[in-house]
Amino acid sequence: MPSPDPDCLFCRIVAGELPSTEAASSERTYAFHDINPGAPTHVLVVPREHVTDAAAVGPEHAGVLAEMLVMARKIADSEGLEGGYRLVFNVGEDSGNSVPHLHLHVLGGRPMGWPPG
Ligand code: AMP
Ligand code: ZN
Repeated sequence: MPSPDPDCLFCRIVAGELPSTEAASSERTYAFHDINPGAPTHVLVVPREHVTDAAAVGPEHAGVLAEMLVMARKIADSEGLEGGYRLVFNVGEDSGNSVPHLHLHVLGGRPMGWPPG
């Protein structure tokens, strides 16, 4: 497993060096509530290992990616998102990606609308 990046915000959250509000945890992933929620439920699921973004994902990440999706479903169950939810990976400047550590947004609790703004 690659070493955590001491300058990476989400590596530091995973390491417990910075505070977060835990939503769920698994062997290879950690999920916490977004500090600036865009929906009644807005949770970020991250791999414990540092991966920059979805464009950096390769076949070697298949296991942790599946674990992230399982975590998203568990969060949807625990948050009562029976009406559905949205999963988002932002990649690159045009998407608004601001933290260079892979994270899956789990959004729900209101109708999301499509396409997103
Ligand atoms: P993105 O724009 O896809 O890079 O998403 C980054 C997300 O991280 C944003 O929704 C931020 O609100 C969220 N965020 C930034 N810093 C923190 C933090 N310290 N704790 C929780 N969420 C954060
Ligand atoms: Zn990181």
